[in-house]
Amino acid sequence: MDERRDLIGLSRAELVAEMAAMDEPPFRAKQLWHWIYHRGARDFAGMTSIGKATRTRFAERFTLDRPAIRVEQRSADGTRKWLLALADGREVESVHIPEDDRGALCVSSQVGCTLTCKFCHTGTQTLVRNLTAGEIVGQVLIARDSLEEWPVPRGGRLLSNIVMMGMGEPLYNYENVAAALRIVMDNEGIAISRRRITLSTAGVVPMIRRAGEELGVGLAVSLHAVTDELRDRIVPLNKKYPIADLLQACRDYPGSSNARRITFEYVMLRGVNDTPGDAKALVKLIAGIPAKVNLIPFNPWPGAPFECATDAAIARFAAIVRGAGYASPVRTPRGRDILAACGQLKSASERARRGARGPTPTHEPASSSGLGRTTA
Ligand code: SAH
Repeated sequence: MDERRDLIGLSRAELVAEMAAMDEPPFRAKQLWHWIYHRGARDFAGMTSIGKATRTRFAERFTLDRPAIRVEQRSADGTRKWLLALADGREVESVHIPEDDRGALCVSSQVGCTLTCKFCHTGTQTLVRNLTAGEIVGQVLIARDSLEEWPVPRGGRLLSNIVMMGMGEPLYNYENVAAALRIVMDNEGIAISRRRITLSTAGVVPMIRRAGEELGVGLAVSLHAVTDELRDRIVPLNKKYPIADLLQACRDYPGSSNARRITFEYVMLRGVNDTPGDAKALVKLIAGIPAKVNLIPFNPWPGAPFECATDAAIARFAAIVRGAGYASPVRTPRGRDILAACGQLKSASERARRGARGPTPTHEPASSSGLGRTTA
């Protein structure tokens, strides 16, 4: 058994405490931070600014382990997707989506998800636990490793933005997400500014303000429906935190302004939420909120109970939202050839293994680690 402590995910203060525990001066923590998060060091041996004897002592006590890469896929459009294995064998996904002058990494916050949104594939994966801060930061390190972007460049980065839009509900794992984002935002390391980080929530209303005040990151809200009746059905969390409460939390979101608009995500489901009437109701609902609306064509998965809205319906919907003065980009699907939709790669890999080894139990109780499983 490896009893060494993994340093990835420790705060600066925790690193200083580790140094104190082994009678090393506090500035060692600063040196380690620089090596780990600015230079991307994967072992202690190469940390040449630190004396050899100290490096050896570090290697005896600590590791710099990232999650293991189980699968790395590269799409023809440049999208990269990783299926990662955590220390306990559980799996999560992250996806890097490059654009001309930048690129966003979509990061997971939980193994699986408790929310069971009806159009979301991750919601069908009932086994859930929170990721640690180290497992969240580890996803960023792995992307930087793969993109060969160490030391962290000042500008012109392939990995310039972070979206907490992978598997899981980040506001049900707030402490670890916050600890991870503080590391990611630290200027002497990964140095991705809060202005380039977006946290996406299905609407955990009591945590929204806290995230805004403490982290100051951008907010995205998965709205997807304009009536409580429909939203209760497709985003069951709505029974606990209905649309009016959610929109009030958006109005109160600290730091939102025209320069820093709230993103409303709206998945286009054929015959479900895609009419001109829905679009008109949407712009009424968000009136007065500095906002943009991301229209996401539904990304189908095997057995999904929905179809994607037609191009014509999406165009009609977008025109109404734009006519009301909101930016309303239609998100073009990326990485379709590599199953880049949320949760798909993990399921495909589980199916392949089940096929090879016979059926494995799919229903295990969710962990009791403070995950806010909604009973609504
Ligand atoms: N739990 C958070 C973040 C993860 S989901 C949240 O709900 O916001 C990231 C986004 O992808 C959400 O807007 C989610 O509703 C959307 N999404 C999930 N499955 C989808 C699918 N099959 N097609 C299109 N969008 C999907």
